[in-house]
Amino acid sequence: MYRLRFHGRGGQGLKTAGRLLGTAFFLAGFEVQDAPRYGAERRGAPIFAYVRAAREPIRERGIIRRPDLVMVADDTLMTMPAAGVLAGVSEHTVLLVRSTTPPEIWRERLKFPGLVLTCPQAGEAAALRFAGTAGVGAAARLVGVIPREGLAEAVHLELGHLGEDLVGKNLEVALTAYDLMAPHAGCVREGQEPPAAPYESPGWIDPPFNDADLSAPVIHGAATSLLVPTGLWRTLRPVIDYHRCKRCAWICSSLCPDGTIAVNPQGYPEIDYQHCKGCLVCLASCPSHAIRAVPEPQAAAGGTL
Ligand code: SF4
Ligand code: SF4
Repeated sequence: MYRLRFHGRGGQGLKTAGRLLGTAFFLAGFEVQDAPRYGAERRGAPIFAYVRAAREPIRERGIIRRPDLVMVADDTLMTMPAAGVLAGVSEHTVLLVRSTTPPEIWRERLKFPGLVLTCPQAGEAAALRFAGTAGVGAAARLVGVIPREGLAEAVHLELGHLGEDLVGKNLEVALTAYDLMAPHAGCVREGQEPPAAPYESPGWIDPPFNDADLSAPVIHGAATSLLVPTGLWRTLRPVIDYHRCKRCAWICSSLCPDGTIAVNPQGYPEIDYQHCKGCLVCLASCPSHAIRAVPEPQAAAGGTL
């Protein structure tokens, strides 16, 4: 059975990526399971999706703990323990990272035991929107059992409702990644079934039943969210054009779900980029279209602040 895990951030198309790859496997004659896993956060929060594919019925359930392939759409997750990118990897695992940092540096930095590859389209700003699709194209080639036309058909089937333009762009990204990974075709191999003999069922714990004043959660610490730099989640940075801004700051500042837009004494909004997670609610709600979205690497390099 193939066990593939995709890691990325909300908004990078990882949920769709899992579905696309699952459909491509299905069209190639496999039994398939695919599912995303994420919390209640908006765009930018770490998420993952996983795909199982086998020639026989799949009875395994739950999160993939021993992946054959880990695809990471956003390399800022690599060193974030909470993202769990390296959970369960072994020398059998192939790690594919969308990054401009060379694979040998990642291998050394992470002490990764298996093969590390990087996605050749990583440096293109436009690829940010299609990070998940690029990962699907690359993963489809790395497993070596999905034909090019099957991948294209999966894109049409799953994304057809988005219209010709978006289907065309996704197709181009997926097929380019597929072609670029040709030298590594088939390097991801099916993993073994975990042996059943040493399995021990978990023991039951009966927690004591306490009165509500003991058991109900009470949050005593105020403003602790300030300590979490959710700005690290951002893939797109909202940038305010102060020439267009009409100073109706009660709109953007009160609609920001994280309260990261303050109003300065002159009445202009100012974004706290340490905590802005890039959900772009402000951009959608600004009546003057004074806020634009800039891909984070481009914003950081170009000094758009
Ligand atoms: S909603 Fe738009 S125009 Fe109004 S203050 Fe905010 S950025 Fe400026
Ligand atoms: S400033 Fe804009 S993009 Fe950032 S968290 Fe607030 S609403 Fe979202």
